[in-house]
Amino acid sequence: MKLVVAKSAGFCFGVKRAINKAFEVALREKNVFTLGPIIHNPQVIDALAAKGIGVANDIAELKRAGAKKVIIRTHGISLEDRNMLEEEGFELMDLTCPYVQKAQRYAKLLKDEGYQVVILGDIEHPEVIGLKSYAGKDAWVVKGSEGLSKEIKNRAGLVVQTTQPVEELKKLVSRLIEQTKQLKVYNTICSSTALKLKETEEVATGVDVMLVVGGRNSANTTQLARLCENLSVATHHIETASELEENWFKRAARVGLTAGASTPDWIIDEVIKVLKGYGRT
Ligand code: SF4
Repeated sequence: MKLVVAKSAGFCFGVKRAINKAFEVALREKNVFTLGPIIHNPQVIDALAAKGIGVANDIAELKRAGAKKVIIRTHGISLEDRNMLEEEGFELMDLTCPYVQKAQRYAKLLKDEGYQVVILGDIEHPEVIGLKSYAGKDAWVVKGSEGLSKEIKNRAGLVVQTTQPVEELKKLVSRLIEQTKQLKVYNTICSSTALKLKETEEVATGVDVMLVVGGRNSANTTQLARLCENLSVATHHIETASELEENWFKRAARVGLTAGASTPDWIIDEVIKVLKGYGRT
């Protein structure tokens, strides 16, 4: 049985940076909390909790828990939340991914230049909630090109949630070109997600069984699992090595492995170790 691992499996740049800094601060300080889970991976949240970094879901919880320092996760937060945290006197450790910060800066720039800001993304996603707060009161969030308001006619400025597919951006731009007099576009899509999808597809098309490793609550990991299923390869989405079943691989000559942007190396390594333990890799 040959094992093929996608090169980009696991943490992306922004998550790696945030998790390393969170573990570093855990060594030095107490009463540190993240506002919401730092990433969508229960094992990493547990590992951080074991080092003393807790999770609070809102300011009231932070206060009740006696938090001093608050970690802002990679998706970023809204301006309103940031102001509230500062007013309450919390010390902030901002681990917003630099690519998300760039999208926030562009949203503000477009608003300041008088454009009506259009955000391509998922309106309920924390990153988009944050972006919208920089984009002004008349900002419009669109998921796909369908939800575009006919009211947007004059000067429109577009920014994109970092994890959106480029095909959606192309469709939306062509709609906006037809509808508006002036259009300014900042392509703020992060290449990491697209690369992971591309590599996963390449691996999945050449194997008998595909393993997708990562949190079941991770949108990125679920997206990878859906991609593999759609390619009609036998796909197993697991969070840890403990879920592996040897009989999945009985007739497999080639097994592929990929992992979401929030899956740490140690979990991927454990999965590979168990597969090797089956004695057929
Ligand atoms: S996927 Fe891209 S934008 Fe999101 S945290 Fe990772 S590097 Fe940053």
